[in-house]
Amino acid sequence: MTDTLTPQAGTTVESDEQFRARLREFLTSNHPGRPPKEPAEKIAWHKAWLATLFDAGFAGPSWPREYGGMALDFAKQVVYQEEFARARVPGPLGTGLGIAAPTIIKYGTAEQKERFLRPMLRGDSVWAQGYSEPEAGSDLQALRTTARRDGDEYVVNGQKVWNSSAEIADIIFTLVRTGTQDSRQNGISYLLVDAHAAGVTVRPLRDLTGDASFTEIFYEDVRVPVANRIGEENEGWTLVRTSLGHERSAGAMNQAAMYRRVLDELIQLVRERGITADPLVRDTLADLEIRVRLMRYSGMRTISDIAAKGEPGPASSTTRLFNVTFEQDLHEVAVELLGEYGALGRRDPLAVQRGRWVWGFLRTRASTIGAGTAEIQRNTIAEQVLGLPRDPAMPPR
Ligand SMILES: Cc1cc2nc3c(=O)[nH]c(=O)nc-3n(C[C@H](O)[C@H](O)[C@H](O)COP(=O)(O)OP(=O)(O)OC[C@H]3O[C@@H](n4cnc5c(N)ncnc54)[C@H](O)[C@@H]3O)c2cc1C
Repeated sequence: MTDTLTPQAGTTVESDEQFRARLREFLTSNHPGRPPKEPAEKIAWHKAWLATLFDAGFAGPSWPREYGGMALDFAKQVVYQEEFARARVPGPLGTGLGIAAPTIIKYGTAEQKERFLRPMLRGDSVWAQGYSEPEAGSDLQALRTTARRDGDEYVVNGQKVWNSSAEIADIIFTLVRTGTQDSRQNGISYLLVDAHAAGVTVRPLRDLTGDASFTEIFYEDVRVPVANRIGEENEGWTLVRTSLGHERSAGAMNQAAMYRRVLDELIQLVRERGITADPLVRDTLADLEIRVRLMRYSGMRTISDIAAKGEPGPASSTTRLFNVTFEQDLHEVAVELLGEYGALGRRDPLAVQRGRWVWGFLRTRASTIGAGTAEIQRNTIAEQVLGLPRDPAMPPR
């Protein structure tokens, strides 16, 4: 361990560039290297890295210090995300950090914050999101998983689906129906379910890439302490709005910095293939270049909105839509420009860069579905950002 967040004795306030240099030095000298192949070893490796970050005071750039975070100002958060993308170190494990944590920070009790936040940030407990159901995706208010009160516990029954990382989760932040079946947004509660409790079954689902990056979850008479409910009973929908906003903006700046690097790598590859003189290729790359720069400004705006208002607000849909369409287009362009070898999968010895571009092409097909589909983001932008009339297909609020 070579550094901590505490400025050295005798120093005054650290400048952004001093912070960048200190962070870069830390990431270089503590870099975890390449991940092991075996899945259980890979998780242990990833958790060890998160613990290293936390213990050195380099975890949670926007989190309050009292929960182990860094409480960085706007400019240093931008630097932080840029340096992490540059260093190619692993990001968070599970989906709790960007979605559940801001919700707990805003709505949790002091006891819940103390119990849940530090272990989540340190990677000691991995969190997964249990919102969607087979009959409740875009129309999340239709969810049917029930939680019946029994003394100090709830008894949970139902099914969730498309839950990223739930196969490695310790806690599933789950939306349940505590009101009547037709109570919609007025009968939903926000429960933290122990993923190892009796009655919880998690099954992996294979996606287009051949990997299994999400799951389905079955709850059968799962007992959850009432002390694990965030916010009031039947008032979970208010919390969902916070958590969906954060989900749509989570990592916006990190994505911008990461795609800056990825686009540079693609341009380099196109140069090596000697096709940069083609005006159509130049035009396509220029378009991507403009968009990756806009992504950076949009990520900066998201961070400054959260810093100023505590919430990303409905404009998080604009950032999300912009970023996901960019990553789809980038991979589509890559596969097209790289020709037949670019379409070979990672196990093929002739594949370009071990099939990373075609893998990205397949993976990003799902980007305009997860965290709300592109159509739903457009509806949100139309109604809540532009003030246009409400979608007549949706039930009244
Ligand atoms: C990669 C990935 C990761 C995910 N991770 C998680 C996770 O961790 N946890 C979790 O709970 N869920 C997760 N999801 C689920 C995701 O939130 C849902 O898939 C999404 O909300 C859409 O719901 P649906 O699949 O039921 O589609 P549907 O809601 O059935 O939509 C089907 C089609 O109808 C369109 N549509 C629906 N309503 C409208 C409308 N009002 N106006 C216009 N068009 C409409 C949609 O845009 C879509 O094209 C993930 C999904 C993906 C792809």
